[in-house]
Amino acid sequence: MMEVVGNTFRLYEVWKGSNRFFCKGRLIFGPDVASLFLSTFLIAAPAIAFCAKAHSKVQNNGYALPALIVASVLAVMDLIFLFVTSGGDPGIVPRNSRPPESDDTFDTTTPSMEWVNGRTPHMKLPRTKDVIVNGHAVKVKYCDTCLLFRPPRASHCSVCNNCVRRFDHHCPWVGQCIGVRNYRFFFMFISTSTILCIFVFTFSWINLVELRKETIWKAMGTDYLSVILITYCFIAVWFVGGLTVFHSYLICTNQTTYENFRYRYDKKDNPYDRGLLGNVYEVFFSRIPPSMNNFRAFVQVDDVVEDSMVSNYEEGNVNPQEKIDIEMGMKFAEDVPHPTLPEILRNIDCGDLEDNIVCKEVEVDDSAVMVTVEENVRGDPSADRSRVAEHEAKMWSESK
Ligand SMILES: [Zn+2]
Ligand SMILES: [Zn+2]
Repeated sequence: MMEVVGNTFRLYEVWKGSNRFFCKGRLIFGPDVASLFLSTFLIAAPAIAFCAKAHSKVQNNGYALPALIVASVLAVMDLIFLFVTSGGDPGIVPRNSRPPESDDTFDTTTPSMEWVNGRTPHMKLPRTKDVIVNGHAVKVKYCDTCLLFRPPRASHCSVCNNCVRRFDHHCPWVGQCIGVRNYRFFFMFISTSTILCIFVFTFSWINLVELRKETIWKAMGTDYLSVILITYCFIAVWFVGGLTVFHSYLICTNQTTYENFRYRYDKKDNPYDRGLLGNVYEVFFSRIPPSMNNFRAFVQVDDVVEDSMVSNYEEGNVNPQEKIDIEMGMKFAEDVPHPTLPEILRNIDCGDLEDNIVCKEVEVDDSAVMVTVEENVRGDPSADRSRVAEHEAKMWSESK
């Protein structure tokens, strides 16, 4: 139990997700970061064994040196992609300290509209609402934990306990969420792993074939390492290769794993589909949105009793640290003597986006995406490209 009165902390020190931080908040991992060691071992051990073998043959074999170099480069790249995927902010949406205030637009109740209650019985907020993305009405949901309407494509990771933008899945091998900010690195990680597997598999076979004097079985009896590497890569390639093929399909159709499992868009229904080239461009070449969290920013923590944060919500005692809040902006100024919004959050300006937002009160059904006939944005790929990010921002500003 940590009791602090009127003190200043770095954001990562009082972070409410389940993340693990290293290097004083410069690196953020999921709570299952330990699995990163296993993944590293599973890549590095066979790669080192293969390279050692190739090294021992450099004198006698023409292809041993190139094989050694290529395998080393692939293994190092693979590990770099793994750590880049794992150690950064995947796209966490900062929590709200308390629910957005009910808005006039929500006063009209529709029969199928669900209302937020539980922690916020006094608030009148719809559980879902619709925003328009690329001419399609997309239902966004209210997150009870983060106290905000999730941006389109965001979902709450139950492992990390955060809402993550363009949530793909939580990868236990990487020990991190896969979201808008690390998806491309994740894909490069699994595709490099696949190439490394195929490479080691192929050259281990060549090793055996070269050793063969009578039968391949006798050669196997003299080179156990190659047999082990062949077996290992054969098993591993089904896993990483399968993932690579699956994610290639998702990239080409602009879906996340979560959406694919949950909604099963057919092509017409997916509001994010920009055509093959547009989808590939978005994943690999579009600008990675900046992190919405400055984990090293100083935040003021007054009268915090860490162990009772949850009950604080229920009792309506919102601790000032929780007022770090992009959605509410300076709204809390009235009840916070010294608002302590991190600088990076303060600088986000969504004001000019508001005019484009269309938030309708319509009856919501169980389907996640309702399609309208508007296709106007589709015609202009450059406008289209920034649309999704814009709409995310719009929605937050809209829910003020
Ligand atoms: Zn959430
Ligand atoms: Zn996660």
